[in-house]
This record gives sequence, C-alpha cells and structure tokens, in this order.
Amino acid sequence: MTLDLLADWLRRFAAIIDENKTYLTELDSAIGDADHGANMARGTAAVVTHLDEATTIDGLLKKAGMTLVSTVGGTSGPLYGTLLMKMGMATGSVVELEPDQFGKALRAGLEGLIARGKTELEDKTMVDALSPAIDAYDAALADGADLWDAVDAAQQAAAAGRDATTPMVARKGRASYLGERSAGHCDPGATSSAYLFDALADVIG
Ligand code: ADP
Ligand code: MG
Ligand code: MG
Repeated sequence: MTLDLLADWLRRFAAIIDENKTYLTELDSAIGDADHGANMARGTAAVVTHLDEATTIDGLLKKAGMTLVSTVGGTSGPLYGTLLMKMGMATGSVVELEPDQFGKALRAGLEGLIARGKTELEDKTMVDALSPAIDAYDAALADGADLWDAVDAAQQAAAAGRDATTPMVARKGRASYLGERSAGHCDPGATSSAYLFDALADVIG
C-alpha cells in the first residue's frame, strides 16, 4: 500500500460518494435528517483538494481526517475524521505500508471511531460495516491471502454488514430517536462506510 494508492483510494471514495449522494440522503431522510449525502460529498470533495500536498502516508491521512472533521458538519464528520486521523497516527511518516501494517492502521482507526462514538456492534451505525470488513481483512491475511484477496474479503464483509443494519433498531445517532421505527431501513453511515471498501477494491484491482 503506497502513498499514491492511498491518495487514489480517497479520490475514488469521493467519486463514489458523489455518484451516490442522492441515495445516501434518501437513506438519511428515512431515519435521520436527510443530509448524509450532502455532508459526505462536501467533506470528501474537500479532502481531494489536499491529496497532492501529502508527502507521507501519516501526513495524508491526518490531513484528510482533519478536513473531514472541519467540513462535514454532521455526526459522521468527526467519526470518519477520527478513523482517518487515528489511522495516520498508527502508520508513521512512511510512503509505503505492508498489508499487515495497513490492517493495523485500519484497526487503530476503527478503535478510535468506536471510542469517539461510544458505539457497539449492532447499534445500526457505520461500525456495523467497518468492523466486519476489518475483521475479514485481518482474517484473510492471517490465512495467507495477498492484499487484493484481503481487500476483496473486506469489501464483501462491509456490504454484508451494511445490509445487516436494515432490520436493526438504532441505538446511536439521530436514528435512535425513532426507536423501533428505525428498523426496516438501511443505515446511511454503514452504506457510505461500505463505499470506503468498494473504493479500495477499485484502486487495488
Ligand atoms: P447527522 O446524523 O449528524 O445528520 P450524518 O447524517 O452525516 O450525521 O451521519 C449519520 C450516520 O452517522 C448514521 O447513519 C450512523 O451510521 C452514523 N452515526 C451516528 N452516530 C454514531 C455513533 N455514535 N457512532 C458511530 N456512528 C454513528
Ligand atoms: Mg444526517
Ligand atoms: Mg445532520
């Protein structure tokens, strides 16, 4: 995983978010305040404008994370921002990561996000897509998979985790205000989180 590939990953994520912003906002209109697509499109577009400045992986991830925190506005901004900033804090000032080091960075990012959001699995949030994806990535590497196969496993697990949020009753965020009425709708943040792994698969494949 190189600096250039990481920049491509965030560019691709921004493009997928932009293509799907109306859909993300539709999902958020069912169980939230109808702004997740706009929030994420604004934040990821701002991230893209800074990618060429970065000379190290930690610099790129920290800047991207800070940009999300300062531009997204919604709850998801500080959470995605924490994910990327904590990833950056876990990598050091390098221009290339081995697949297992990238996995450790993802894990550190997820743990930071969970601590910040005080979230558990099955709260019907982005964690329900991210956590199984990172578990699948680690498990694939432990089984001897290469980066491509590990990312493929993560992408599939993220999509399954996203889909599994549909029947859940939300326990965090705005959707939790709806109680039982939040069931039957896919979580917007889990949907954008699955795009993170779609983007990764696109740039690695
Ligand atoms: P807001 O709810 O402030 O309008 P967004 O619409 O951008 O923010 O993001 C909503 C998403 O944020 C939800 O779909 C959910 O996945 C995620 N989310 C909300 N609260 C938390 C939390 N405490 N931990 C993790 N994710 C959360
Ligand atoms: Mg919202
Ligand atoms: Mg909002």
